[in-house]
Amino acid sequence: MPFEILILGSGAATPTFNRNCSAQYLTICGTQVLIDCGESTQNQIRKYHKKFQTIKAIFISHLHGDHFFGLPGLISTMHLCGRTEPLTVYAPKGARESLMLLFEVSGTELRFELTINEIDTLEPVEIHHDKNFRVVAFPLHHSLPTYGFVFEEFTPLLNLRPNVREQYGMSNDECVRVKQGEDLVLADGTVVPNVELTFPPVKPRRYAYCCDTAYDESIIPVVAGVDLLCMESTFGRAFEQLAKDRCHCTAAQAASIALQAGAGKLILTHFSARFIDTTPLLAEARSVFANTECAADGAIFKIENQQEQL
Ligand SMILES: [Zn+2]
Ligand SMILES: [Zn+2]
Repeated sequence: MPFEILILGSGAATPTFNRNCSAQYLTICGTQVLIDCGESTQNQIRKYHKKFQTIKAIFISHLHGDHFFGLPGLISTMHLCGRTEPLTVYAPKGARESLMLLFEVSGTELRFELTINEIDTLEPVEIHHDKNFRVVAFPLHHSLPTYGFVFEEFTPLLNLRPNVREQYGMSNDECVRVKQGEDLVLADGTVVPNVELTFPPVKPRRYAYCCDTAYDESIIPVVAGVDLLCMESTFGRAFEQLAKDRCHCTAAQAASIALQAGAGKLILTHFSARFIDTTPLLAEARSVFANTECAADGAIFKIENQQEQL
């Protein structure tokens, strides 16, 4: 099943002609979720022909406007377009109060169930799990309480080798237990080792989103080994002090995190409006971590399945 990230907004605090504020549309194991919801997110969803009524959950990193101010508008449009399916929002403290106030003063009485789960943690914690994946939130270093997210598939069951079911006359129950890792015990007491019956499943895929944050090595263990790491890169090396003062990262710092974490690939995003062209930021990052790409509005990044090594 596809694991796909559509960039809806790759800009920093101020939207530009080509870059909207932060938002990403994630399709994971057949489920659609949204990460951040800056201004214009609902227009971007339409522009790129995605459905907003199928979004099951929305993950807001922090309450700065460029990550949050599109949310009341999107929820209102979901309501006006007849949504009946429940929606869950995960966001830092303050989200519930501010959204409820807006809905109250605007006379908006939602027709669907809206659950707002506020995140408040100093440690990585699982905040959401679906049938096929889970989401872990962890604190970032920014000027407001801010959280990164790791989206990870559950480890699939082992696969049965071809024909073993017929060869040993295995029942459905036995098949399930063998797929869960058990050996097979035959009627005469012979034990067939699991390794002779199965082969490893595909490797569970993992995606980490870290935006906004200052350079902070404490996140490395949490994002270690992810297939795809999205890091903010508001500035370049020439603005390193400004990045530090404003609790943001440079491209090279983002790449350093990717390198130390052993990420498969790095995406840079959240570019300051001062950078019309992101090529210099890409070059900076690639000098540290070669497998880097810059996000752009409308860009799609996919994580392909990989067979576990035998
Ligand atoms: Zn931001
Ligand atoms: Zn911010």
